[in-house]
Amino acid sequence: MGGTQKCKGRNQRWPYSLLVALLAMAQLSCGRGERLKAPALASPITRRSDEVTLPAQHRLRHRAAYPWEGVYSGSHLKITKEHLRCRGARHAPLKEGVGEDGAKFALFDCGGPRSHSLPCREGKEEVYPILLELLNWVQDKSGKRVIVTCGHRCPAHNTYSDPTTFNQTSKHLIGAEVDFYVQGLERQPEEVVALLLRYYEATPWYSGKSAYQTFHRYEKEDTNVSIPPWYNKEVFIKLYQPNEGRDLDNTHPYPYLSIQVRYDRARECPVTYTWKEAFRGYRRG
Ligand SMILES: [Zn+2]
Repeated sequence: MGGTQKCKGRNQRWPYSLLVALLAMAQLSCGRGERLKAPALASPITRRSDEVTLPAQHRLRHRAAYPWEGVYSGSHLKITKEHLRCRGARHAPLKEGVGEDGAKFALFDCGGPRSHSLPCREGKEEVYPILLELLNWVQDKSGKRVIVTCGHRCPAHNTYSDPTTFNQTSKHLIGAEVDFYVQGLERQPEEVVALLLRYYEATPWYSGKSAYQTFHRYEKEDTNVSIPPWYNKEVFIKLYQPNEGRDLDNTHPYPYLSIQVRYDRARECPVTYTWKEAFRGYRRG
């Protein structure tokens, strides 16, 4: 009696129309399965069983470098002449200068790289290549970023940054001087000097050339630094203490280094400041 009631209850929970719908769905899914199992088309085999097809001969081709490759020294972007462009600012406020006779005059800044070029030699913009070689060497060997604070200065920006008489014949004016410090070695500039000197020991071109490999100390007191500079035939290296050499391009609180070029290795001639090169040696925009 109880069993009969159970069956009756089940029939009430699964109505006939629902069962029909489930069966229809099962049929449809079976139909899809049959379509998937349809045999794939095949091509007849036309070669003989003893034929062997060798793969074509391949030659290794090296891909061309992407534009961003080859532009690193160590893990940092290479220092190029672009880093040494004049840092004048068109909207810098006028400053007041005082001449040797006590007369006052207005000082104005240049418009920076948009208003003039780097120094031009033989028709091309150029800073002395040894400056870039040394900066990239430091960056490569230290693994730390070189921060260039001053490269080329046009006459207007040179006077605006540092109107002292001492600065008027600066080699910044002819693209033969750079000021910089190294991020992470801000307080150890002597380590950077040691790296610069090592460049001349490690670079094959200088091997056996004592005029380049031997550095001297400049002991005369006609410089604007208290630590005697280092020099060889090609460069003159100054180390500015935190209270020295503070011009508009070097307002940071760190000691910094300055490298001047003394000798042009490629053209085999001394590098000296000339008014003509400083004032006429670049293009104005
Ligand atoms: Zn300038």
